[in-house]
Amino acid sequence: MNPSYSILFEPVKLGPVTTPNRFYQVPHASGMTEANPRVRAKFRGTKAEGGWGVVSTGAVSTHPSCDDSPLPYARLWDENDVASHALSTEAIHEHGSLAAIELWHGGGAVMNRSSRIPPYSPSGIPWMATHVGFMGQLRPRIMDKKDIRDIVQWQVDAARRAQRAGFDIVYIYAGMGYLGYEFLLEEYNLRTDEYGGSVKNRTRFVRELIEATKDVIGDDCAIALRISLEELRARKSEHYESQAHEVVSLLADLPDLWDVKMDSSPTDCAASRFTAEGSHEPVINFVKQVTDKPVVGVGRFTSPDTMVSQIKRGILDLIGGARPSIADPYLPNKIKAGREDEVRECIGCNICISSWHDGVPVRCTQNATIGEEWRKNWHPEKFKASQSNDKILIVGSGPAGLEAGLTAARRGYEVTIAEKSHQLGGRINFEESLPGLQAWGRLKDYRLYALKQMANVNLYPDSELGIGEILSSEHQRIVIATGARWTRARYSSLEIPTSSLDGNEIYTPDDIAAGKLPKGKVLVFDFDNYYMGGILAEYLSEKGNSVEYATPAGHASAWTIMTNEQPYVHQALFNHGVEVHTQMLLENHIDGSASMKNIFTGEARDIDVDSVVIVGLRLPENDLYDRLLTDHEAVKQAGIQSVDRIGDALAAGALVHAVYSGHEYARNLDETDEDRVLLRDLPIVEIEPGHIT
Ligand code: ADP
Ligand code: SF4
Repeated sequence: MNPSYSILFEPVKLGPVTTPNRFYQVPHASGMTEANPRVRAKFRGTKAEGGWGVVSTGAVSTHPSCDDSPLPYARLWDENDVASHALSTEAIHEHGSLAAIELWHGGGAVMNRSSRIPPYSPSGIPWMATHVGFMGQLRPRIMDKKDIRDIVQWQVDAARRAQRAGFDIVYIYAGMGYLGYEFLLEEYNLRTDEYGGSVKNRTRFVRELIEATKDVIGDDCAIALRISLEELRARKSEHYESQAHEVVSLLADLPDLWDVKMDSSPTDCAASRFTAEGSHEPVINFVKQVTDKPVVGVGRFTSPDTMVSQIKRGILDLIGGARPSIADPYLPNKIKAGREDEVRECIGCNICISSWHDGVPVRCTQNATIGEEWRKNWHPEKFKASQSNDKILIVGSGPAGLEAGLTAARRGYEVTIAEKSHQLGGRINFEESLPGLQAWGRLKDYRLYALKQMANVNLYPDSELGIGEILSSEHQRIVIATGARWTRARYSSLEIPTSSLDGNEIYTPDDIAAGKLPKGKVLVFDFDNYYMGGILAEYLSEKGNSVEYATPAGHASAWTIMTNEQPYVHQALFNHGVEVHTQMLLENHIDGSASMKNIFTGEARDIDVDSVVIVGLRLPENDLYDRLLTDHEAVKQAGIQSVDRIGDALAAGALVHAVYSGHEYARNLDETDEDRVLLRDLPIVEIEPGHIT
């Protein structure tokens, strides 16, 4: 290990417990509930195995009045839940790490769709984010004194259960718009009793939660306070630098650990496209000056130098990681072993958070194995040895081809990757050059770095393969990873892609990637709805074009709501002077005029533009694959055992799909159907279903 990193491996005392090092996997959404306790346990155990000294749950509801369904939230309501979580704590303890649980009451920010209990809030003020205004219509109740006592009691009951489940660190949650936070902020808390008004009064509820929890389990478990400080730091306080300073001073040494963060998912878990590593620092950098208790915080930290600097400069005691621990569960161990160059760094794409919004276990662009440790028996660092001497030829070096090649090579197969372009990396080579996407280059850099170290890998750029080359290649396994192409299809009122718009002035993202840039005034018409349309509008505007953007959706880059990017997409378009037209269908482009109509009302809108970039339907590039299947006799005679297509050549998708597809191919090589594990998890039922006890 680089000696300057040894500070990262020092223990830290948290009240009655001590961490083995400073790597702290903070609570994060994992999409794993009591419905899949073994998936959850193996997922967390793998992080402990990879060296994370503390491994936390995501938010765990203390009571049915905190019910975020249909989102996949966890519960600790009864003894079955205790048994379910105990699987996780055992898996974490097996590797000498501490287990933390983020007990949580969502207050007025949850809709209790399943329990149908009117949500709790200090003053009946709901969370009504404009971009998710459709999320619910139930407004929360105003908590009376009994409600306050109940919530504290439910926290205490859940804390006792947490202790029984084997947790070492138990949280009080006062962040992200949830109940504790609602008491802290003036807009949510209009109370005139001892819980409202002054900052001291507004802090009372959180203090009671901490004190009550400490009373019952504080001798054995560390009590952590997770708190959002972004808004509070921006607010004036009479006697302190800000209300954040005041709140932290009022509670200073009460918790054993301060876990400090931002206020909303888009700022807390910000995409790298808009926000750099370490972005929380200006908000949380004062906390250690106010409390003597240890502080943990996050910032998408993947560089050990940055981590050491955070500690040495007195910003943090523990290096919090959510996304870095997803992208590489072995990050700490790799640093410890002096292998920091091999860390699979998070690219900040936020596909992981989109899986929470999708209601499924966490998925990651960089790490195909996350969430599949139990279900598929995929370990991020261990690979089943090859089962044959077959040589693998991969055509195309995009994310799918590189991942398939790397995984097969790690299994011991001899791998050749042929790429027609001069540069290996496929679509990443263009995409990493787009505004804000520089960190996405890590996807290719990580894989190419690893592939280049391996003796059983041959990399051939500048090598376009046709049927002839493949048949004479003397490889037994052919993998077509030739990607997908963007089409000029438009979008119809039936809400499906329809006939193409042709002409010299009609462009696709592939044209732009190839350096064929439109001139003059440009309309970007986007029904792909992910990043490409919005980002090309930015890119072209930075190249000097005057740009307008149109989409049939209600927002620009509509799907980016799932990745926490949408507010920033609108800001970026605004800052680039891009006019946004929503709910639009593109009808035609004739003589410098694009005709559009409203998808709902049919109202026409014409705008003068020299060219149009259509960002819509992508179709697989699989001519080579089809020809190999047609020529199956020649394929057989060439000794080829299998021809497969992966990634975008199979089904055009996001980078996460391409990486997963490549990984899955290589894991399944030479495996029988029986070997291809796909286990089904089930809830643990130790006590008969019935009343919550
Ligand atoms: P994916 O996301 O599925 O990995 P990409 O589009 O990123 O797909 O990458 C596909 C790669 O395949 C591109 O770099 C492209 O140049 C390459 N490619 C396409 N056809 C051939 C071919 N016949 N021979 C070699 N490389 C090819
Ligand atoms: Fe990082 Fe993207 Fe993986 Fe999330 S999905 S951990 S942001 S690489």
